[in-house]
Amino acid sequence: MDPQALITEESEDSRLAGAQRLRFKRFMMAVASYAAGTLMIGLLVWLDYLTASQYLFFISLMIAINSLFFLLFKTGLNLRFNDPSLTSLQIIASTVLTIQISYMASDGRGMLLLIYLVAHIFGAFRLTFRQFLLLDAFTISAYALMLSLLVQNRPEAIDLKLELLHWGALCITLPCFALLGAYLNRLRERLRERNNNLNQALKKIQELAITDELTGLANRRSIMEQLANEWERSKRNQRPFCIALIDIDFFKEINDTYGHLAGDTVLQQFSSLVSQELRSPDKIGRYGGEEFLLIMPDTHVSEAEKVADRIRRTISQHEHGNIAPGLTIQVSIGIAEYDNQPIQEIIKRADLALYQSKNSGRNRVSVHPLENP
Ligand code: GH3
Ligand code: MG
Ligand code: MG
Repeated sequence: MDPQALITEESEDSRLAGAQRLRFKRFMMAVASYAAGTLMIGLLVWLDYLTASQYLFFISLMIAINSLFFLLFKTGLNLRFNDPSLTSLQIIASTVLTIQISYMASDGRGMLLLIYLVAHIFGAFRLTFRQFLLLDAFTISAYALMLSLLVQNRPEAIDLKLELLHWGALCITLPCFALLGAYLNRLRERLRERNNNLNQALKKIQELAITDELTGLANRRSIMEQLANEWERSKRNQRPFCIALIDIDFFKEINDTYGHLAGDTVLQQFSSLVSQELRSPDKIGRYGGEEFLLIMPDTHVSEAEKVADRIRRTISQHEHGNIAPGLTIQVSIGIAEYDNQPIQEIIKRADLALYQSKNSGRNRVSVHPLENP
């Protein structure tokens, strides 16, 4: 599988896990506000507006409903809903619970109005203005239904004038919350979008910082960094590795004969040919002009020589017909194996081997011998 695809898939997985964690965190915030609500409703019991058994009934219902939400989040069943944060459902559940208490209480309903507002605040994480208005319509209608049931069934428990005043206050404040909440949600969305754009730009910048513009290979900084990493790894694990310096022969002549742009095209074609020849752990980068550095991890010099010679042959057999019929290029390669010396020393030895290839006729691979083979 393409390693880039794997990385993208992994980061997608971690993004989804992060989103699910955030939803659960918000649910826990809702649970904390339920605890505050339970305390408030306790005041109604204290003032004898609610009996202890009614209070217990409310607490059991609240625990049951929240356990259900807890299970939905923990099992991931919430992901099957259109809105996996279940925001509207949670607000509806708390509204129904509060209306139930308002119906049971003999007085003190005014205080409970605050709970509808607290529940609505959670909508700012998610809801659009339209969704807010639908929720408001539900709350206002359910409250009106509760009042009419009270008038019918327990007229002694209700001061109709005062209750209508409460209802009117609800009708006015909820849409105000909707307006503000939807505005906050839009701000949140815009911030998220800007964050995404910034992340993408950062990714692009990071990519540009390590890529050679012309060939698309790792640039010098990046390949040197990879070499330092490989050096550390091999030193730590006592593993072998080889490097090869690959230099195009008589490249100046190509520029002089066919022009600089043709030279650029040859460099690009060379890079794509070499990339196809690499084994999966090997890494290549543009070391300078028409010189490239190849890192071969876990490789002894005998194997490295074979890899390099395969590259040399492939390059020499490729015809750059788009520049001139029959045009081929050749490369000289110098190889050095890691021998417990510093990085600069290995590069120097590869460079010496490259000079040997150049001096002994070019289009060949030379190896710098190990001092303690
Ligand atoms: P040798 O076989 O000894 O390596 O000869 P050479 O001509 O390949 O080596 P030399 O160092 O004399 O010339 C390298 C040339 O590569 C000179 C430079 O203009 C050219 N070059 C370096 N970078 C680029 C580039 O990005 N594009 C093009 N078109 N040419 C480049
Ligand atoms: Mg050259
Ligand atoms: Mg050169």
